[in-house]
Amino acid sequence: MQRLIFLGAPGAGKGTQAKLLCEELELAHISTGEMLRAAVAEGTELGKKVGSIMESGQLVPDDLIVALIAERIKKPDCEKGYILDGFPRTVPQAEALGAMLGSAEVTVVLFEVTMEDVEARLANRRSAENRADDSDDVQRERLRVYQKQTAPLISFYEERGLLTTISGAGSIEEVYGRLKQAVA
Ligand code: AMP
Repeated sequence: MQRLIFLGAPGAGKGTQAKLLCEELELAHISTGEMLRAAVAEGTELGKKVGSIMESGQLVPDDLIVALIAERIKKPDCEKGYILDGFPRTVPQAEALGAMLGSAEVTVVLFEVTMEDVEARLANRRSAENRADDSDDVQRERLRVYQKQTAPLISFYEERGLLTTISGAGSIEEVYGRLKQAVA
């Protein structure tokens, strides 16, 4: 069973690469951002709690997201393995995941990109997807939040010997080639 965590700044290409790899390896694609956007669209209790937080570019509270993941990874489609795309995003989330998984094996893939690449990709996405949290200001806030709250996970996983870093630069196919080598 393959458990992968994709780590990287917004716009680093995690979502695109996760979709490709999940299809090829028949893994479940667990995107917390997509799960939350679905909850907002459906108007569930969770959606009502998180909508305005997401629109501001901030992170939703750890306890909500940890509960969401704890339920999700028990589903039958996760039996062959899964990719966590967008989780964990804080050290407490990573610690909670560690407690859930115990000694189970996990690989963390860091997609390394320059700020110029990220800005260019986010500008593209802004014109293509029309996401409420993808305006210029909110994107800047999301990058700031990434640097402050999520980037510390790089050393967190490095210290535990779990981190594999690949360059996220270049075309989707180029990055996918590197990803396949990294997880082979
Ligand atoms: P994403 O699609 O992964 O960029 O996520 C969109 C938004 O959902 C983020 O800006 C956060 O507001 C929220 N979100 C997604 N994943 C998490 C997480 N692991 N922890 C906290 N908030 C999250």
